[in-house]
Amino acid sequence: MTSDLKKFLDAKKSDPRLVGDVERHLLSKPLEKRSTDVLHPSEMVKADWCLRASYFALTGAPVKKEKPNLRLQSIFDEGHFIHSKWQNWFKEMGVLHGVWHCMVCGNEFYATSPKMCKSCNAYGHFLKYGEVTLVDPELRIAGHSDGWIKGIGNDCLIEIKSIGSGTLRFEAPELLAKADGDMGKAWRGIRRPFRTHLLQGQVYLELTKRMGTPIDEIVFLYELKADQDYREFVVKADYEIVEPIFDKAKQVVDAVIAETPIACNINEVGCKSCLQFGEDNDA
Ligand SMILES: [Zn+2]
Ligand SMILES: [Zn+2]
Repeated sequence: MTSDLKKFLDAKKSDPRLVGDVERHLLSKPLEKRSTDVLHPSEMVKADWCLRASYFALTGAPVKKEKPNLRLQSIFDEGHFIHSKWQNWFKEMGVLHGVWHCMVCGNEFYATSPKMCKSCNAYGHFLKYGEVTLVDPELRIAGHSDGWIKGIGNDCLIEIKSIGSGTLRFEAPELLAKADGDMGKAWRGIRRPFRTHLLQGQVYLELTKRMGTPIDEIVFLYELKADQDYREFVVKADYEIVEPIFDKAKQVVDAVIAETPIACNINEVGCKSCLQFGEDNDA
């Protein structure tokens, strides 16, 4: 809260013509809701996924969240925009499958690139793609794949990733180093999806199996933010790669059922993720 207030005041201090108002607008918006009572694949695949932090989150302990500043919000929104662009092309091609939300009547239904709302007949441009929800209720895992493509060969999932210098620095520092910091060179040097993306994709494919609608291929669409160049990487389902991640999820869920907090697996004295949960949660 105090850091939010500081950002707000900082935004006020400078005296730009318009961006100060935009900064304050973003800070005044309520935080996007993201449920913390499920395990998100995007977190589970991180090298620093703390099981102890997930334990507390699953028990309903309040999770501290910071409001993003303009730059960070802009990065998120740019990513969303790139997602919508690709999803819209697949929608037009008649191959985008998943949940659709009608902005006219509020109905939600499963379909492949529907031309109109099944309940109110609203036209297709009033239908918003709700992506593909993938769950394992027993392990309390819930995630969203960017798309389910039906009608171009066998069914496949898609994962759209916008790649900027930040992505490369974080996901593939060795690639950037090898290219002497040259973004274009590093980009052309990408041979396979980045490790976290790959793991996330494998988690999604495994979830489709557990839900009884197995899909055994995921296509990663990478778009370079700097010039919209694009790359495609196809990956086949291979559960072994993510088996340890599912094992960890089971560990967390078992601990929640037993009401016994797990030790931090990142750091002996606790890590930045789990230390936010106070002693009073520790009983
Ligand atoms: Zn409708
Ligand atoms: Zn921890």
